[in-house]
Amino acid sequence: MNLDELYGALGLDPAALRRGDFPVTSPIDGATIARLAADSDADTEAKIARGAGAFPAWRDTPAPRRGELVRLLGDELRAHKDALGRLVTVENGKILAEGTGEVQEMIDICDFAVGLSRQLYGLTIASERPGHRMMETWHPLGPIGVITAFNFPVAVWSWNFALAMVCGDPVVWKPSEKTPLVALACQALLARACEKFGDAPDGLLEVVVGGRETGTLLVDDERLKLVSATGSTAMGRVVGPRVHARFGRTLLELGGNNAMIVAPSADLDLAVRAILFAAVGTAGQRCTTLRRLIVHDAVRERLVDRLKTAYEGIRIGDPLEPETLVGPLIDRAAFDSMQATLGRVAADGGRVFGGERSLGDRHPDAYYVKPAIVEMEAQTEDVRTETFAPILYAIGYEDFAEAIRIHNDVPQGLASSIFTNDVREAETFTSAAGSDCGLVNVNIGPSGAEIGGAFGGEKETGGGRESGSDAWRAYMRRATNTINYSRALPLAQGITFGEG
Ligand code: NAD
Repeated sequence: MNLDELYGALGLDPAALRRGDFPVTSPIDGATIARLAADSDADTEAKIARGAGAFPAWRDTPAPRRGELVRLLGDELRAHKDALGRLVTVENGKILAEGTGEVQEMIDICDFAVGLSRQLYGLTIASERPGHRMMETWHPLGPIGVITAFNFPVAVWSWNFALAMVCGDPVVWKPSEKTPLVALACQALLARACEKFGDAPDGLLEVVVGGRETGTLLVDDERLKLVSATGSTAMGRVVGPRVHARFGRTLLELGGNNAMIVAPSADLDLAVRAILFAAVGTAGQRCTTLRRLIVHDAVRERLVDRLKTAYEGIRIGDPLEPETLVGPLIDRAAFDSMQATLGRVAADGGRVFGGERSLGDRHPDAYYVKPAIVEMEAQTEDVRTETFAPILYAIGYEDFAEAIRIHNDVPQGLASSIFTNDVREAETFTSAAGSDCGLVNVNIGPSGAEIGGAFGGEKETGGGRESGSDAWRAYMRRATNTINYSRALPLAQGITFGEG
């Protein structure tokens, strides 16, 4: 299937994708694959207005009926899983298995949200006053803004969108400037679902194409009651305070610096496989990528040697080919940042294995790298910083308390894991005294979360939670109701006020 056929299969008009001056390149070979029309400030304003205009009708649509639209979107995603997964690979560079895996994650959240549309439960609460009843009701919040990163260009949108739809909130989406095509494809698939649905209001999903300045328009717009923003901590530092300054809500999903502790009792065969997927999968460009290996001195050398052997066997190359495990970095800036970090950690005494550019002769405009392992004696500032590339630092430890201290001694708090067969260590790691992250795993790696759980992290990761569990509450407003069905007016706390 050539590119135009792929666009066509997803409901996009190939000619319309070449009319603008906003270039989209494929990290596979650096080729320009589209020239989109970027949204001006006025276009963005009009799209926010359309989202706001859709709110009253969607708010008043019963939640299970709203769920029906999400069910239809899930059907479209099932029917177009291969095509959309392929476009994710072409535009983002992740391998095809991960591109289609991302679409499967979208299908999963749609299924979850359909069920949720009949389960937006509030509590009933015992009242201290006779003849009174208290309850909570959950109402749609309003139109919301969703800003996404390049590395999960469609799944993160779907986590937000599927929940926002059943919760009654239209969405204005600004995808990453590096991956706007897949966003347009999602919008086209939703349009098909809306057609089958029948009476969905216009404006349930508006996509704005542009960079961070366009994002700023969403951040500052009072009509958008929630801004759900995924990306770097640097972005969150700007977005969070700006939205809060207008008393908007935020859901921030920011950078991670994820670790695994490998204890002496660990099953090393399992650990090696888990490390490989978590550290080199998606070319190290997952927010949950394993970046720090905190390994007991008794097994450190053995484990690092096995990893080096495994790294030698990794196939790096075209992500569309089935044998490839590691595709390209997103762009030159990512490559430069990786090389600069490797230079600094080597100067700090780190022993660097791998990390060189690969396939540069065949693809001068694409940036493939050999994943790197760096043995460190200490957790330096560079180790404490997220470099969004496949660099795995290996640090030794002697006792378990030290391992936990090193683990938590970073500003980020997204994903974490431990490999151990010692139940005391496993339980301590998941306890309040253990990992300080939002995702805390035992005997699996830190990446590859399922949609059923709430996803997100603490500290500089931003504190947001998306996807499963009760993350839907972020997209609704809660009202506490007290209903008096008696013929008297007793006051709470036994207060008497002006009664004879
Ligand atoms: P980025 O911060 O460069 O950009 C993310 C998005 O924010 C883009 O759409 C960008 O245009 C927009 N943006 C940037 N600055 C903005 C501003 N001041 N106002 C409004 N919008 C702004 O991130 P990236 O390079 O696309 O993605 C990689 C980063 O995202 C990594 O740090 C990674 O850990 C993080 N990430 C986190 C999660 C999570 O769930 N915690 C998931 C995916 C990615």
